[in-house]
Amino acid sequence: MMERQWRAECAELNAGQITEGVAEERYNLFVPRSRCPGCAQPITALQNIPVVSYVMLGGKCANCKARISPRYPFVEVIAGALAGYAAWRFGATPAGVGAMVFVFAMIALTFIDLDTFYLPDDITLPLLWAGLLFNVTGTFVDLPSAVIGAACGYLALWSVFWLFKLVTGKEGMGYGDFKLLAAIGAWLGWQVLPLVILLSASVGAVIGIGLMILARHGRETPIPFGPYLAIAGVIALFHGAAINRSYLSFL
Ligand SMILES: [Zn+2]
Repeated sequence: MMERQWRAECAELNAGQITEGVAEERYNLFVPRSRCPGCAQPITALQNIPVVSYVMLGGKCANCKARISPRYPFVEVIAGALAGYAAWRFGATPAGVGAMVFVFAMIALTFIDLDTFYLPDDITLPLLWAGLLFNVTGTFVDLPSAVIGAACGYLALWSVFWLFKLVTGKEGMGYGDFKLLAAIGAWLGWQVLPLVILLSASVGAVIGIGLMILARHGRETPIPFGPYLAIAGVIALFHGAAINRSYLSFL
């Protein structure tokens, strides 16, 4: 959707006017209906049941038999498992609803960042505001912790970015990463930020070094940081307070 919008904006800038006749097809989360990328056959409701339909169809389009990416059932299983865990952990409470919103956003951001190296503002910014709103009534943390968390989350990575850029002349991460950490701070409070940064940086380093050795990724090949932040955010959502308590008592 973003790429279509950018193309439309570029066309508009170049032409100085909206070109007649090239009426853009409506394209959003609801229209057009999901369809097979191979043959454009619309997916029926029965073929759209998470995981079940994939198994019943044998992973192939019912019409043209093109292979359906296993990524669909994979994402559906993760989303279902995390939503179930949120329900079990928080019950039928505002925190339960909030936790589901949070994990769905983290899943979407992870896969979009892996594909495109973008963490869209359309997700990170509403997520940040939603976190602050949930915490007006202290759903996850008290409101001052949430507000400070949002500001410090952004500033923490913003400072790393500029320090790295001043020292090396390179851009080590994107502004989307700052916004994502700000959103995590808004949901979970400033108290979880050290844990989230530590977790995401160490997992990112292990996987980055692994890719350099195993896949012969060059040092210059970028890897997205958003997925590590998102995974750390989900861990912090469910167990951040407990982890913080245990390492503070250890110290
Ligand atoms: Zn097809």
